Amino acid sequence: MAILEVNDMGKKFTNHHFGTTRQAVHHVTFQLEKGQFIGIVGKSGSGKSTILKSIYRTYLPDEGSIYFDSEYFGKLDLTEATERQIIYLRKHEIGYVSQFLNVMPRRTCRELVEQAVLEMGETKAVAKRDAEIALMHFELDPTIWDTFPNTFSGGEKLRLNIAIATVKKPRLLLLDEPTASLDEKSKQRVRDVIEKLKASGTTLVGIFHDIEFMENLCDQIFDMNSKQIMEVASDRNEG
Ligand code: ADP
Ligand code: ADP
Repeated sequence: MAILEVNDMGKKFTNHHFGTTRQAVHHVTFQLEKGQFIGIVGKSGSGKSTILKSIYRTYLPDEGSIYFDSEYFGKLDLTEATERQIIYLRKHEIGYVSQFLNVMPRRTCRELVEQAVLEMGETKAVAKRDAEIALMHFELDPTIWDTFPNTFSGGEKLRLNIAIATVKKPRLLLLDEPTASLDEKSKQRVRDVIEKLKASGTTLVGIFHDIEFMENLCDQIFDMNSKQIMEVASDRNEG
């Protein structure tokens, strides 16, 4: 069974000041099986980020449906989910990662990851243990665990973002151009991180500029231009 089903999803934005309306996305349909990785490609402004933000319910789509197979709620249309359900899902089942470090200031790297575990209702001891495992797993050097992330490099910030999002072991992880401002070496490390996530069975929806990067990692690629799944030119998806 699909873990995510986006059916004819559309979203428009109204500018109340000018009274204008802009259709950001239209007629988006795709399905994702558990453990798969779908990449979204398309030119800037084509609505890729709006799709991810609609799944995360930063935005409420105004057309179509987005079914998510929740562990807790069962099959749920995210466009009809209540605010409480969305808060629960963000804490436990759906993670969102962008290149921006969108976290509380004046908390150390370690505290930020521990916080994500505490929010799930775990004890301090579990939070400490899980945070250390996640920080090690995503190769954040122990010498920076107790420092503030505003001094981190782009690659370190991103790996911290991923550690915060994945320490909750979400069923679905949304990657919103996380590598946008990284150099080649850092991108390569992100590739390793994504491979680790895939190996652990996490289902992923991601936006990356580098199509080669995606082709080698994704099971499916959705093209915003044709609104279709592109053929991925390899046999690595079989079996
Ligand atoms: P991100 O966090 O990925 O930058 P944003 O939602 O901030 O995403 O912006 C995505 C795109 O939408 C950008 O092109 C931005 O200029 C545009 N945008 C964001 N907010 C508004 C707004 N209130 N009115 C018009 N365009 C907007
Ligand atoms: P992409 O991720 O493909 O670059 P986006 O999803 O960010 O595209 O944006 C798609 C369109 O929707 C753009 O025209 C953008 O300006 C508009 N848009 C995105 N977010 C907002 C917003 N919060 N308010 C108004 N317009 C927005």
